[in-house]
Amino acid sequence: MSFVEYPSSRRATSAQLTGTVMAVQANFYQVYLDSELVSPAAETSILLCTRRTRLKKIGQKVMVGDRVGIEDPDWKGQRGAIADVFPRQTELSRPPIANANQILLVFSIAEPDLDPVALSRFLVKAESTQLDVKLCLNKCDLIKTEELQHWFERLQGWGYQPLLISVRQELEYFLESRNDAQPFTQGKTDSALLQQLRDKITVISGPSGVGKSSLINRLIPKIDLRVGKVSGKLGRGRHTTRHVELFELPTGGLLADSPGFNQPTLDCDPQQLSQYFPEIQQRLTTGSCQFNDCLHRDEPNCVVRGDWERYDHYLEFLQEAIIRQEAMIQQPDAESSLKSKTTSGGKRQYEPKLASKKYRRTSRRLQHQTLQDLCEEIDEM
Ligand code: GDP
Ligand code: ZN
Repeated sequence: MSFVEYPSSRRATSAQLTGTVMAVQANFYQVYLDSELVSPAAETSILLCTRRTRLKKIGQKVMVGDRVGIEDPDWKGQRGAIADVFPRQTELSRPPIANANQILLVFSIAEPDLDPVALSRFLVKAESTQLDVKLCLNKCDLIKTEELQHWFERLQGWGYQPLLISVRQELEYFLESRNDAQPFTQGKTDSALLQQLRDKITVISGPSGVGKSSLINRLIPKIDLRVGKVSGKLGRGRHTTRHVELFELPTGGLLADSPGFNQPTLDCDPQQLSQYFPEIQQRLTTGSCQFNDCLHRDEPNCVVRGDWERYDHYLEFLQEAIIRQEAMIQQPDAESSLKSKTTSGGKRQYEPKLASKKYRRTSRRLQHQTLQDLCEEIDEM
């Protein structure tokens, strides 16, 4: 992921009070101050802030996750005013979060059983945000060690290093030595998981029932206390689908809980899909297909087509993407936003015109909007 340099004029000066927006409600922003900057007289590290009129005038929105500069702190009343919003490194539209670093995709290994195609779909959707993707498999207490070993190796083949945990038993399973009798060592703490979450903004995602709430409650034992306190001030609960809030991990890092969903729709265009499979990317670093726009189906001299586990998933999702694109081409208004071209392989192909904001391919910000759809689907359910 590339990080945007702060232009010097917008960089926080050493004397400026800075912090991170943890929650937004109407015109109020809950800002968690950077600890080293908090005045010794301050009894709080959280200020309830308004947004300076100047920011409103220039249309500068403030999102959860934004790094902001604060003026006029009223330590007694625990109030302040947001005077600056520093440039974002990343931006997801929905859940609306600025500066998220990674997605922690949680699945359960049993109850409900792990469905490889569903997991693949979630992974592809998560990869399409271009944030880092971490995979965590919960409920490992429900299956035998041999099965754990099987899943671990299988997912490694997909290009992931899954964290195997049991929230219920407060255990993590580590593959320390390749000793057949005892392939996994059990750890008592969440050390590996916590280490991955430290100093980052992480969006937790995954289908319902896999143990996300249980995990968050375990990672942040005080979460209910804090939710209670925040609700008092801002007057709303945590479980509305459009609501996003960041929670601080006691060991460092911030977590955002995004609502559960069951079947994410893949809405990338057919050419993009291969970017979201680590296995394909790996094959394309060591070799290249004859055609630049190879869709890796039946083209000659393709280095991707082959006997690897998720190749069938790729073909299935590709077919969906093609059908979706064809449907768009048949709709008169969608058609106007697509242009056709003839590829080097002699095929006629439609691709988005760059003028169309909706289908533009290159914008990082738009790529991030794919998480938006996840939530829209839940809203519709
Ligand atoms: P969410 O919908 O993803 O937030 O899932 P929940 O946290 O509500 O958990 C769903 C169910 O799974 C609950 O009945 C939990 O008690 C159970 N559960 C959560 N973690 C574990 C685990 O590690 N092992 C087992 N066996 N059950 C778990
Ligand atoms: Zn190919």
